[in-house]
Amino acid sequence: MSQRPGFPAKLPAAGGTRATRSPVVGLAKPSHAAHGLQPARSLEVTSVVASVTDSGPLRARMVSKLAAQGLHDPMVLQAMGAVERHRFVETALAVQAYEDTSLPIGLGQTISKPNVVARMIELMREGVSGKLGRILEIGTGCGYQAAVLSHVATEVYSMERLRGLHEKARENLRPLRLHNVHLIFGDGMLGYPAGGLYAGIISAAGGDDVPQAWLDQLAVGGRLVAPTTTPAGHQALVVMRKTAMGFERQVLEAVHFVPLKSGIA
Ligand code: SAH
Repeated sequence: MSQRPGFPAKLPAAGGTRATRSPVVGLAKPSHAAHGLQPARSLEVTSVVASVTDSGPLRARMVSKLAAQGLHDPMVLQAMGAVERHRFVETALAVQAYEDTSLPIGLGQTISKPNVVARMIELMREGVSGKLGRILEIGTGCGYQAAVLSHVATEVYSMERLRGLHEKARENLRPLRLHNVHLIFGDGMLGYPAGGLYAGIISAAGGDDVPQAWLDQLAVGGRLVAPTTTPAGHQALVVMRKTAMGFERQVLEAVHFVPLKSGIA
């Protein structure tokens, strides 16, 4: 396994052709600086980047913004502050990791905005102050949300239908040693009965309907949060709570998630 860079990749000091301070580690392409080529603009960029050696303050600022936007579950905010989002995106995108933006993770998929990740987890946890029990995530992607979930639930089962992303998530998560995260390669539309029943189910991909398997695998009192196409034809967040009498369903704000697809690839 290759050594992961710090935040972001440590670049050589501006103007230095012999990288005396820190080597270029893990960059997709060799930088100009590594070859002694210094386009005028890169001096400025390099010095800004080189001055950021710790991502903690950036995450703290991101969490303050989330709180200002109305997110309020302390356990979720703490988890968002703990997980290093920049580890889950390509090095070239690391500088954007703490902006409230979705980012590409390969194979045409995206990691959701921090605001949306936090919002969905809050909705799943509504009414619970301690950790949730077992939860199921559909759409592991790069593994970022699974890492956040590992802080708010006792066991996290996360499914991905694209083998390339399943493996990427495994690689991203390995150094974090999150023993309560279980990655499953398979079609999440079928759920994962072996891990259930679940106190919460969260989908990072949007379908036309909530699959029956998810409803069946949710425990009574549990909540499911999934982007779902409404009869009006747009995607909205749907929350379903299982009660002894049946399901309560709420349709909330419009969202834009990648499609939920069946089968594996
Ligand atoms: N939570 C992810 C977001 C990934 S985007 C993260 O933090 O990175 C949504 C993911 O859902 C994509 O990787 C896509 O391949 C996956 N997906 C879509 N349909 C699926 C299905 N039926 N089963 C499992 N994963 C699915």
